[in-house]
Amino acid sequence: MSDPKLLINGALRDGVRTMDVINPATGGSFAACPLADEALLDEAVAGAKAAFPAWSARPIEERAGLVIALADALQARAGEFSQLLTREQGKPLDQAGMEVMGAAFTLRAFAAMRLEPVLLKDDEKGKIVELRKPLGVVGAITPWNYPLMLLMNKVGPALMAGNTVVAKPAPTTPLTSLLFGTLCADIMPPGVVNIVCDDNDLGPAITSHPDIAKISFTGSTETGKKVMQAAAATLKRVTLELGGNDAAIVLDDADPVDTARRIFQGAMANAGQVCIAIKRAYVPEAMYEIFCEELAQLARVAIVDDGSRQGAQIGPIQNRAQFDKLRALLKTCADEGQLAAGGDVIDRPGYFLAPTIVRDVDDNALIVREEQFGPILPILKYHDLDDVIARANAGNYGLGGSIWSADEERATAAAARIQSGTVWVNQHLALNPTVPFRGAKSSGMGVELGMDGLKEYTQASIINIKRQ
Ligand code: NAD
Repeated sequence: MSDPKLLINGALRDGVRTMDVINPATGGSFAACPLADEALLDEAVAGAKAAFPAWSARPIEERAGLVIALADALQARAGEFSQLLTREQGKPLDQAGMEVMGAAFTLRAFAAMRLEPVLLKDDEKGKIVELRKPLGVVGAITPWNYPLMLLMNKVGPALMAGNTVVAKPAPTTPLTSLLFGTLCADIMPPGVVNIVCDDNDLGPAITSHPDIAKISFTGSTETGKKVMQAAAATLKRVTLELGGNDAAIVLDDADPVDTARRIFQGAMANAGQVCIAIKRAYVPEAMYEIFCEELAQLARVAIVDDGSRQGAQIGPIQNRAQFDKLRALLKTCADEGQLAAGGDVIDRPGYFLAPTIVRDVDDNALIVREEQFGPILPILKYHDLDDVIARANAGNYGLGGSIWSADEERATAAAARIQSGTVWVNQHLALNPTVPFRGAKSSGMGVELGMDGLKEYTQASIINIKRQ
């Protein structure tokens, strides 16, 4: 992307200053991102507010047509988006391609959804109908792990519900959002979508802005709490998709080798930087050795490389701060358990960590209690199903989880006891824009995706008619 610009009220604009964007595979800067200040943010919000009446009044089929046009444009330039995504985020090019296609698929899925009025009562005494109305301007705040996909999870439903949007990407991955902004500049009416970038300083101005009606936030639990606090003053609607510490529980009838392979994928995708990555695996004592050995072997042979290189399976850590956090965490792993594979940085430029398997840890280890958000997987032993379910449910997170077993009924019964928004059986990381996704406990509030996710961008309103 040669000269990235902000999108403010239909115009592609320079910022007040620029910030280097780092390629995590080299540690070097490759682009300059324009930054907004509060005055530019105010212009974006004013543009979105001014565009709202006409956009929300537009027939839904027309709105859907424009959202589909965005999906078409994204797909038509999928190669360019994928390369930029790999450069700013680090993930291997094939995975970047999947994110871009997934982003277009998400827009199409929302374009097909309709929130029809719901007839609650209709008899001789009266009629009651529930309508869904848009809220106004939506503030969409996204993290750095899936910058394009997570933006579409917000833009798609916000626009389809009739809202306008001011989006702010994470400071270390702004460019794919800005490139998407150029598509919006061509396709959408001015002000309907605005994209502003910051150096991690504009969040509070967005979450407390009097002209923003709703915040859709994806990021860490710590920041999510600040968002909720800031939104309280203006009673904004908030949807929070936050951190997770997903447990995979392997039942004693699962195939250890096949399950280990699939758990490795669920833990190491995007170098483990996935809110719903497997972050701890619980394995029956009888299969513990074979399981650890299989995982360690997979970690040893995984190709860790610059995501733009052919054959790379695991890319770098996305940013320096996360890289430093993981290096500190790795030190505790060696003290609190045994390293079966990995355990160190890879000696090359950029932010590369060897995929790491930690065995013989217990539930008190930091790597088990905290969300690592990196390519480090602790493997824990268990003897008793009731006990392991209690261990999986301990702690404040409740985003995802998985049960692995040859017996679907048994697995489903165990899955129903996990305190998470989603529990998978014999898979992990399976998301679909038509299936609601939500975090329990400190993993979030509200719903994203599916019809329930679309409803979060609306105000329900009851029309209650008395018949004489
Ligand atoms: P983060 O919370 O540091 O930042 C997320 C976004 O919030 C960024 O755009 C950031 O600039 C912005 N921000 C920072 N301070 C803010 C404030 N005071 N008010 C408003 N916005 C503010 O998160 P991150 O490090 O970018 O992302 C990693 C985290 O995101 C992990 O915990 C991960 O589990 C979580 N995540 C959750 C989901 C989900 O759907 N549940 C998906 C992806 C990532």
